[in-house]
Amino acid sequence: MLSYRHSYHAGNFADVLKHIVQIAIIEYLKKKDKPFTVHDTHGGAGSYAIANEHMQKTGEYVDGIGRLFGQRFGDPLLDRYLTLVAGLNPVGHLREYPGSPLISATLLREQDRLQCTELHSTDFPLLQQRFAGDKRVRVEKMDAWQGMRAMLPPTHRRGLVLIDPSYELEADYTDVLEGVREGLRRFATATYAVWYPVLDRQRTEGFVRRFVKAGFPDLLRVECCARADGSGRGMTGSGMLVINPPYTLAQQLSQTLPVLRQQLCDVGGHTLVKPLTAEH
Ligand code: SAM
Repeated sequence: MLSYRHSYHAGNFADVLKHIVQIAIIEYLKKKDKPFTVHDTHGGAGSYAIANEHMQKTGEYVDGIGRLFGQRFGDPLLDRYLTLVAGLNPVGHLREYPGSPLISATLLREQDRLQCTELHSTDFPLLQQRFAGDKRVRVEKMDAWQGMRAMLPPTHRRGLVLIDPSYELEADYTDVLEGVREGLRRFATATYAVWYPVLDRQRTEGFVRRFVKAGFPDLLRVECCARADGSGRGMTGSGMLVINPPYTLAQQLSQTLPVLRQQLCDVGGHTLVKPLTAEH
């Protein structure tokens, strides 16, 4: 029984990082006319109303999208993200924050496809309703790892696999690496973007080390920690491991993350963009 609801956390500093990386990869795929598929393993509800009691209860979005909305920073990637969020809030007030499926669907062209899996009994129908009638989008109530076996490879050779578990279960930490391995066996030409939380630094480094040891030839680590490392009880930051990143991604994020750091990080926080090889 899953209890995690992304509606408590949507738009927080971790979502900002994840969705910026997601946008950068999709915009890169769009440079060619050839179609691509985004496979979103943990779709969530698709979109979140700011007025929702869950959002208001934690207020996490205030120190994420809340610090950025309505501004432009002269950084093309960050501004692209903010333009996308602004496009969903035409009244000029932040009323809705897009989840990863809505971000993908907003960016997709006619020829591209989005496929999502989600297991939660409340969030799955919300996700399904959100995309009812959009023929580019397929939504399945299915376990993420089973979904990768059932739905990969897609018909297109190009794509992004976004892996964003809630890490509610201990097994998520090990399932992610196995999931990426399985995905690559089926869909080797895709980019894989894995989100991870930073709660306990030692644990985070162990998680990253397992990816390095797995020997993926092209692995990029991106991290944005709003606060100094803590004792393991609260999330102080988050990161993304990107396998087969677009060749432009590291440079692009090296420009964007210092701007994010200025806006989102308190004293003791940090950002990081680092290609990883087996020696690290
Ligand atoms: N990717 C979404 C976004 O950025 O808007 C947020 C996803 S949230 C962090 C994780 C989601 O995964 C939750 O909605 C949860 O119900 C779902 N989930 C957890 N374990 C799952 C599993 N094994 N298979 C499919 N979905 C799962």
